[in-house]
Amino acid sequence: MNAQPQSPVFDVERIRADFPLLSRTVHGKPLVYLDNANTSQKPAVVIDAVDRHYREHNANVARAVHLLGEEATAAYESARDGLARFIHAESRDDIVLTSGTTQSINLVAYSYALPRLKEGDSILTTVMEHHANIVPWQLVAARSGAKVKAAPIDERGELIVEKFFDMLTPEVKLACVTHVSNVLGTVNPVREIARECRKRGIALLVDGSQAVPHRPVDVKALGCDFYALTGHKMLGPTGTGALWARREHLQSMPPFFGGGEMIREVRFDGTVFADAPHKFEAGTPNIAGFAGLAQAIGYYEELGFEATHAWEQTLLTYATERLSEIPGVRIFGQAKDKEPVISFLLEGAQATDLATLLDLEGIAVRSGHHCAHPLMQFFGVPATLRASLAFYNTRAEIDAFVAAILKVRKLLL
Ligand code: PLP
Repeated sequence: MNAQPQSPVFDVERIRADFPLLSRTVHGKPLVYLDNANTSQKPAVVIDAVDRHYREHNANVARAVHLLGEEATAAYESARDGLARFIHAESRDDIVLTSGTTQSINLVAYSYALPRLKEGDSILTTVMEHHANIVPWQLVAARSGAKVKAAPIDERGELIVEKFFDMLTPEVKLACVTHVSNVLGTVNPVREIARECRKRGIALLVDGSQAVPHRPVDVKALGCDFYALTGHKMLGPTGTGALWARREHLQSMPPFFGGGEMIREVRFDGTVFADAPHKFEAGTPNIAGFAGLAQAIGYYEELGFEATHAWEQTLLTYATERLSEIPGVRIFGQAKDKEPVISFLLEGAQATDLATLLDLEGIAVRSGHHCAHPLMQFFGVPATLRASLAFYNTRAEIDAFVAAILKVRKLLL
């Protein structure tokens, strides 16, 4: 274990005390949770908000005039306010609450892209995308006769930006780029990409799933058209997320789901929809989840990204150095601007075997393709191991992780 102080300014042990699950054991060992890119752990304020909703406020949103209904609606809508602050949206009405990034991207695919696409058009994405930012485009491309093209990356795992710009040809109607890669941690230069897209009149969707847990996001400054995010990777409950979009897009897009809550008047000779964002929020939402997400945002706001980001970068550097010392370790992704995600392989060991043995040591890492088949194809591997960090991780956990790899390495090689 490392005896160095964790950080002079960042009291990680105090922060860890806010996360009940972090103190549990796994297979008799202290849990070392390094699967944060998959889903983050939740602070007690989030868990309590979900619990409190069901114990004290449970009712449906919008339809009720009774007090419980008002309280449930206020909790749900407070997530919209929080998200608008969190990503610096101009208006809370530009935030559509969804079940997560997957739903947010599908909403854009079916409500924005599909009505606009025709034979010969293309959608431009990149080789490093999560399947959630590939497959919806393939589905609408198949229906419209459009094509999906992917811009290349280099061996360091960085987008070849000039190539991306070259590929922004007149038949491209939409560009879709991840802000941060879930496999490589690469941060894409979204501002520059947005600038080039705007010059050419091409709308840009940014998948912010892996960015919002780590860095402040300002959708106005980024200059994109759509920004999709998921709540469960940013301390919030599963089944919560959002789509931010420029007002003119939200106004022009038809609803994707029909049902209750999204209408002004329903008649058999024609239904009048509610205004955005409500016209995209048919049915009963995950009210308790959004009550929790509002608290998650408050938690980030209290900590401040300056402190969490600095600590995460310290951990990223430390973990990269320690892993690199292990003979036979190959790290995928050496981008200059990188969030704390480390994909790697150990020569001679199967990723899944290694992850299974690490689990027995209490270390939770992910192994597999990480929903990024094209990226695995680019690197010519079927799978990697991925250690993804959060601000509540410690140097001692990284030491335990490295020690466990050295131990299981002996069993595997
Ligand atoms: N995009 C990226 C970059 C992701 O990492 C993930 C989840 O792993 C998603 C999209 C999908 O998010 P969700 O399953 O919450 O919709």
